[in-house]
Amino acid sequence: MGEGGGQVLRSSLALSAVTGTPFRVESIRARRSRPGLLRQHLTAVRAIAEVCGARMHGDALGSRELTFEPGEVQHGDYHFAVGTAGSTTLVFQTVLPPLLLAAGRSRIVFEGGTHNPMAPPFDFIARTFLPLLQRMGASVTAELKRPGFYPAGGGRFVVDLTGGQPLSGLSLLERGDVEQVGIEARVSQIREHVATREMKALAGALADLPIEADTAVVESAGPGNVAVVTVRTPQLTETFTGFGERGVKAEKVAHRLAGEVRKYLAADAPVGEHLADQLLIPLALGGGGEYRTVEPSLHTRTNIEVIEAFLPDRVKLAERDGFRVEVRA
Ligand code: AMP
Repeated sequence: MGEGGGQVLRSSLALSAVTGTPFRVESIRARRSRPGLLRQHLTAVRAIAEVCGARMHGDALGSRELTFEPGEVQHGDYHFAVGTAGSTTLVFQTVLPPLLLAAGRSRIVFEGGTHNPMAPPFDFIARTFLPLLQRMGASVTAELKRPGFYPAGGGRFVVDLTGGQPLSGLSLLERGDVEQVGIEARVSQIREHVATREMKALAGALADLPIEADTAVVESAGPGNVAVVTVRTPQLTETFTGFGERGVKAEKVAHRLAGEVRKYLAADAPVGEHLADQLLIPLALGGGGEYRTVEPSLHTRTNIEVIEAFLPDRVKLAERDGFRVEVRA
C-alpha cells in the first residue's frame, strides 16, 4: 500500500488500538533494502501491544507479516526503549493516540534515537506537533532529557499526559507573516566549529528574515550534529532539520536546510510536508478540521488510505487553493 514503509504499520497500530479493530498486515516494508520489522518498528508494535493488551502473531525482528488484535487501552507508567539508535519519536507517535483518548494519566519514557533523519526530530515534536495538539485541548507535554543520534543512540525523552480530554477541531488555512525564524546548530562530540559554520551559512542564506540564532554543545552518548530552523507564523511554528554527515561540509548541510525553508515559504501554505501526514490521525480521532498544505507527499496520501481502512469517509484531499485536507470528525 502506498509508501509501503513503517508508516502503514504504525498508523494501523494506532488506529486499531483506538477503534478496537483487529488487522493483519502483509509484505511489511517489502521493497525496502532490509524488509520486514526492524528494531524501531518492533518496539512500536510491542509498545502499543502493551498499552492496549493486544494479542498478536508475527512480532519478531525481520517479520513480514503481523496479526494484531487490540484489547483495552490502559493508562499508566510506560518505558519503551528501542535498544538501538532507531527513532523513539515514531514509537511516540504510535502510542500517543490511544493514550490521549483513554481517560487517565500516563508517563512514558522513551529511549533510543531522538534526532534521526527520516523521522520527526524531537524538536519537531516539541515545537510543531505538540503545540497544535495542545491547542486542540490535549493535555500533553514532552521533555528531552538527552538527545540520541545515529549510530550511538542513548537519547531519552519523557512524555506526561492526561488522556480523555475532548479534542476540538483545528483549522490551519492561512500562513500569515513570518514572525520569527530561529536557527540553531548543535554538536555532540564533534568540533564546535561545525556548528559555528552551519550557523554562519544559515544566517547568510536566511538574512532577509527575522532571525534569532543559537549554537550549543550538547551531551549525548556519541557524536552527532543537527541544525534546526523554526519558522514562527501566527498559527503555528514549523520545524526544519538538517543532519551533519561524515564527508558533507557544514555549509552544504546549512544550504540544503535553508533550501527546504525557502521552499516552504514560497508555497504560502501553513502546513509543511511532514506535519501534513502527522496531523491526519489526531484530526480524524479528534474534532476534525482542515488545513492548507504544500504538495502532499506519498506519506500523506498513504496515511489517508490507512485511515480510510479503519474510519471510512473521514479524510478528503482537495486541490483547491493549492492543496487542502479536510477531515470530518
Ligand atoms: P516512515 O518513512 O514510514 O518511517 O515514516 C517517517 C515519518 O517521519 C513520516 O511521518 C514523516 O513525516 C516523518 N518525518 C520524516 N522526516 C521528518 C522531518 N525532517 N521532520 C518531521 N517529520 C519527519
